[in-house]
Amino acid sequence: MSISAGKTSMRHTLRRTLLSALGAAAAAALLCTGCAERKTYRIAVSQCSQDPWREKVNQEIRREAMLHDNVEVEIRPAYDNNERQIADIRDFAAQDFDVLIVAPNQMEALTPVIDSVYKTGMPVIVFDRDIASDNYTAHIEGDNHGLGVAVARYAASRMAPRHMNIIEITGLGGSSPAQKRHEGFIEEVDRIPNATLLASADGRWAWERAYELTDSLLRVYPQANMIYAHNDGMGIGARKAIREHGLGESDIMIIGIDGTPEEGIQAVADGVIDATFMYPTDGWRLVRAALAVLRGEPFDRNELIPPTSAVDSTNADLMLQQAAALNAETDNIPMLRDRLDDVRDRHATQTRALAGTIAVLLGGLVLLALLVLSLRKGRKLQRELGERNAQLTVEQEKQKELYRQLEEATRSKMMFYTNISHDLRTPLTLIADPVEQVSRAKGLTDEQRGLMKIADRNVKILRRLINQLLDFRKYENDKLELNKSRVSFGECVGEWAESFAEAAKRRHITLDIDTGATRGTEVVIDVEKMERVVFNLLSNALKYTPANGTVTLTTAKGDGSVAVQIADTGQGIAKDEIESIFDRYYRVRGTAPYGSGIGLAVTKAFVELHNGTIEVDSTVGKGSVFRVTIPVVDDQAEAPVDSNRIATTLAPVDELDVVTELPVGHDPHKPLALVVEDNRDMQSLLSTVLSRDYTVICAPNGSQGVRMASKHIPDLIICDVLMPVMNGLECCSLLKGELPTSHIPVLMLTACTLDEQRVQGYAHGADSYLEKPFNTDVLLTRCRNLLDNRKRIRDAVRQLPAETPASAGRKPRGAKPAPGQALAAGMPVQLQDIDNDFYNAFLGLVARGLGDPELSIERLAEGLGLSQSQFTRKIKALTNYTPVALVRMLRMHEGRRLLRAGQASISEVAYAVGFTSPAYFAKCFQDAFGQTPTEFRNMEVPQQ
Ligand code: ADP
Repeated sequence: MSISAGKTSMRHTLRRTLLSALGAAAAAALLCTGCAERKTYRIAVSQCSQDPWREKVNQEIRREAMLHDNVEVEIRPAYDNNERQIADIRDFAAQDFDVLIVAPNQMEALTPVIDSVYKTGMPVIVFDRDIASDNYTAHIEGDNHGLGVAVARYAASRMAPRHMNIIEITGLGGSSPAQKRHEGFIEEVDRIPNATLLASADGRWAWERAYELTDSLLRVYPQANMIYAHNDGMGIGARKAIREHGLGESDIMIIGIDGTPEEGIQAVADGVIDATFMYPTDGWRLVRAALAVLRGEPFDRNELIPPTSAVDSTNADLMLQQAAALNAETDNIPMLRDRLDDVRDRHATQTRALAGTIAVLLGGLVLLALLVLSLRKGRKLQRELGERNAQLTVEQEKQKELYRQLEEATRSKMMFYTNISHDLRTPLTLIADPVEQVSRAKGLTDEQRGLMKIADRNVKILRRLINQLLDFRKYENDKLELNKSRVSFGECVGEWAESFAEAAKRRHITLDIDTGATRGTEVVIDVEKMERVVFNLLSNALKYTPANGTVTLTTAKGDGSVAVQIADTGQGIAKDEIESIFDRYYRVRGTAPYGSGIGLAVTKAFVELHNGTIEVDSTVGKGSVFRVTIPVVDDQAEAPVDSNRIATTLAPVDELDVVTELPVGHDPHKPLALVVEDNRDMQSLLSTVLSRDYTVICAPNGSQGVRMASKHIPDLIICDVLMPVMNGLECCSLLKGELPTSHIPVLMLTACTLDEQRVQGYAHGADSYLEKPFNTDVLLTRCRNLLDNRKRIRDAVRQLPAETPASAGRKPRGAKPAPGQALAAGMPVQLQDIDNDFYNAFLGLVARGLGDPELSIERLAEGLGLSQSQFTRKIKALTNYTPVALVRMLRMHEGRRLLRAGQASISEVAYAVGFTSPAYFAKCFQDAFGQTPTEFRNMEVPQQ
């Protein structure tokens, strides 16, 4: 885990927590401000008329509404006009008011519109008056009937013991209060003994009308001493008429109803009327009922407000004062309300501020917690980092120590190699000289001379390798010195290059040499070392260039320098490898398996000793160009002239690709051995050793080996493991997988002594394994054993036709021969699957064509997918019979089987097994089994 990853995740958590804290705070703030935002109720009030009583009701409604901050009220008076009131109600309904409070002008006229509004679902509260249906939500009115009763009783008490002659001036006829006030009054009057109702006339609630009515009624009933007016206004109108009739206040008592301060009570206080009964206004009741309905709270559907006591001269003043005080208070309400609103606003602001503060505080707390967390985490990370650093330091120390040990080991190893190389040099010199002398001695056979040459060449190779190794060690230890002499560059290089001409020719490589540009250019160099440089580069060029390629050597003269360039058309070097090829022991992946990887390292070392440079330019598949540039040093005076100094020690000793085809006139009785080996000397040695017992042919690599094996079908293959182009393991697999060559025993030769390599060899089908260096006698014994083994298998296989005649071809694939046949000389011998299948296929073909005298070897070979000669050699190798003899023998065996079955005549049997003449069949039969068919039959099948 990295620190930055930790930081990022912490930042995410921080942001998330902060957001949620702010969200919570916002929600809290909303919650508080949300308290104020409740639904506002809109109440519509339709008044039938406009008079002081109604004005008082309206005032009370408004006052109550003010006490609730979610109530709006709209009041419309209809001025005693039905049409106007109907229009008002309809408009209220259209404007979606929440509730309708209505005092209907006239019951019959207003009932339909109130019904329809009620039916739309709008709550309707009827007050003061009735409607002619039950379609209302609540009904509230003052007790008009009770009022009538109260007025009658009060009048009686005031008039007693006088007789009461009464004129009644009623409200509008057809309006329910007028009706009820009348009924209550006369009910009570009927019960009073000295009271007479003189007249009852419709004053229509209007004082002018009352005035006119009183005027005319007084003319008719001059004895009247008491007037009952259904409202105070009409009472005042009556008083005016009374006064005009010249009557005093005490002559006729007037009692009104309503008792509003402005009209009725004032009139009482002024002595205009004698008493008034307060008709309850109770506007607040209407608003509260409406709110109860709207909020779904309980309410009284039919509410009757009881009458109050009379207001007369004894209490009128008091009542007026109270009313004035109430009005004053009422006037204060809006102001109080404003204050309240102010306070509420302030409260809301403060609540919001508080919520904000809490939110900020919460956020701060969260931040603080996160900060603490992150600090802790940071400290933990730091601690971990510290621990890791400490670990790393320990690791580094360990690595340093390991590196030191490695260096020490390498140094010791190098020392060991150097010492060994030194030790090898003396015996090598002691071998080299006698070998050289012996190889020049007279009286050697060709074979002996060949062997001595091989020895001589390889001693030189060994000496070169050792020298190279020692030189490189010296260079690494700064102990390599230059042994300078003055020579002509072009001439020297030219001659060194010429010595490769022969090797190039043998490899079919064109070697172009052009040193013209530096002929006569004198340079001071260590000739031996420069020669090694050119030698190494040319050897590589030839080694890594296939046949038919070209190697070009040119020299060039520059400003104060000379250069030699060696270009080839070989395999090239991959870009990523070029850097490393000058490192000691470095070898490009997949290059030929031989080589030490030290040549270019030495080359570079020598060039650098001359203060020169070496460059390489290469393209895979196209070739490489190596260019060596060395300065022409001007200290020639010191250097001895050595114009004769030409290479003597370094004549190229190469490893040639040599193919040795079948020698003309070879001994056909000798088994044929194929040697697959890339080292020319090893090839020569093997050829020489084997040629006493075998005819030897050679191939330089695996792919040539496979080609020659399937061409010649040798009896034995000796194959090296490490080879260019195709290695021995691949070669062996291919040979064992191909029908023509699958039966040939393969002996692998290798320098690797590891068991693993041996296992690999056997896994690829090798029959035997021999390590280099080997003793030639052991080699010959191994080869002989392999052939003997093969013979034993052959002998076992030879039994096959006798045992499995016609049915043989139907053997399942991969079936092994019967154990008795496969075992010989106590060791398990069995055919390869591929050979077993081949042999069974062959038997099948023969069985099917047995009756055909024309069954030819050509047909059989073709049927098995082999050339005639491959087929012949393969059958011979497997059975030691020629195909012709084998087929004949199979015919004989089948003939014998048929004779033994005894169902066919001898000539029928002869034809059945492909003979055209029974006599010839009889002859062949006798040759094969030592008795004629007739004798055989007589012996085998007892005559009946
Ligand atoms: P080696 O003994 O393997 O040839 P060298 O030091 O001479 O060692 O060469 C190092 C490697 O560089 C070789 O293994 C080979 O793969 C590569 N190399 C050198 N010269 C050439 C060339 N002319 N063409 C292709 N590859 C080359």
